Order: sequence, then C-alpha cells, then structure tokens
Amino acid sequence: MAEAGETTDFGFQQVDVREKARRVAGVFDSVAARYDLMNDLMSVGLHRLWKAFTVQLAAVRPGMRVLDVAGGTGDLALAFAREVGAKGQVWLTDINGAMLRVGRDRTLDAGLLLPVVQCDAEALPFLDASFDIVSVGFGLRNMTRKDRALAEMHRVLRPGGRVLVLEFSRVWAPLAPIYDAYSFHVLPWLGARVAGDADSYRYLAESIRMFPPPQELAMMMQCAGFEDVEWFRLAAGICALHIGRKY
Ligand code: SAM
Repeated sequence: MAEAGETTDFGFQQVDVREKARRVAGVFDSVAARYDLMNDLMSVGLHRLWKAFTVQLAAVRPGMRVLDVAGGTGDLALAFAREVGAKGQVWLTDINGAMLRVGRDRTLDAGLLLPVVQCDAEALPFLDASFDIVSVGFGLRNMTRKDRALAEMHRVLRPGGRVLVLEFSRVWAPLAPIYDAYSFHVLPWLGARVAGDADSYRYLAESIRMFPPPQELAMMMQCAGFEDVEWFRLAAGICALHIGRKY
C-alpha cells in the first residue's frame, strides 16, 4: 500500500504515488491510436532497429515461453511470436486497455493468436518460474515502483532465464543540446499535429531525463536478483538494452 504523502516523478513534476498510474494511463489512452505512427515519425524508424536488436539478443528458440511486459501495441511480442513457433508461447501484457486493443488487433491481422492480458507489471498474474524470457520495451520508465516491477519479472522467470530491458537512456554528451532541442520542441509539436496531444510527448521527453542512467539501472536489476547484467548503448546512447539472468 502507498503511504499517504509519498511522491514520485511524473516527468518533471512530483505527484502522489497513487496519482502517477492514473496520469500514465491518461497518456497512453490518449496516444494509443497514433502510437505506432508517432514512433516511426519521432525515431525516423529507428525504434524498429532497436527492437530487432533486442529480439536478436534474446535468442529465442522454438518452443520457448516469452512474456512481453508493458507490450503495448505488440511490436516485440509479434517478433518473438515468429521465433517461438507453434510449440512456444508469447504473452502480450500491458496495464492499458487501449494500447492492448491495438496490439491484439495487430497480432490477429498478422495471423497470430497470442494470449493478451491486461495487468500491472508490479503485480504480475503468473506463477513463479513460468517464462524463459521476459522483455520490457520502453515500459519501465512509466512504472511507479520500478523495483517491484523488476522483482516481479525476476520471480516469473525460470532459473537460467533472461530479462531484456529496452529503454531510453543518456545520449552522448556532445549531442545533448541538439537532442534536448529536438525532445522539448519538435516532439511536442509533432505530438500536437499527429496525435492531437502535445502534453503526452512533453511527458515522454521529461520522463526520459528522469530515468536512471545505465549503471544505475544495472544496479536496480541486480537488487531485483538479476546477475550477469550487461548493457548495450544504442544510437549514441539515445536508448540502451540491458540484459540480466536469473540463476
Ligand atoms: N512495449 C511497447 C513498445 O515498445 O512499443 C509499448 C511501450 S509504451 C512507451 C509504454 C507502455 O507501458 C504503455 O503501453 C503503458 O500502458 C505501459 N505501462 C505503463 N505502466 C505500466 C505498468 N505498471 N504495468 C504494465 N504496463 C505499464
């Protein structure tokens, strides 16, 4: 239970911990219909490469069980589903119904029938040790209690299983001024024109700055029980892929 008066970040604002999930839900309710288009425009398609890299390093084999946490519109889940084959299983999960509906429709359009579950990453409705791979793409940043979510991902992984955390990170310092100008001016402008919502893309830019740098995220993963934690900086540090193993 949240303590009265306990606060957390929502972008650059401090809000009551009970308020953050509601605000994050508002962001994704608002952008769900245009989420995929905005991802392509904002990253000029680069997010596809970052996700492909994540899938490649996951080295998923036929028959494996994969859990995609905060999977939203299903990019990672879809890619994993093609790897695990008919004997494997990929679960697409997210706390947000609007994002999941887009994801479910996309998987059906692709001719794949995946289990889709609306749930909070901080209290996953799965038994201990039930997955070979757990992934979370651009989701951890939005969670109120990241330590709890990481502990839950650790719990549902089988011993020997791996977690992959793809998230925005710290851009290479010489590029920071141009990246900041892009994030704080172009993104809200694009958000307003394409998704009819500047504030959600302002939140995106702010939440990236509030997210821990790679070393700190690695420590959080270790505190949650993961070992052999390593990370790869992508696109001059715009994002990073962290991988950890459960023993
Ligand atoms: N993984 C997808 C991708 O890479 O395109 C979607 C990422 S989207 C930026 C972040 C997602 O995190 C949203 O769909 C949001 O609903 C989800 N999310 C936020 N808080 C969550 C929580 N506590 N539990 C599960 N999902 C959450």
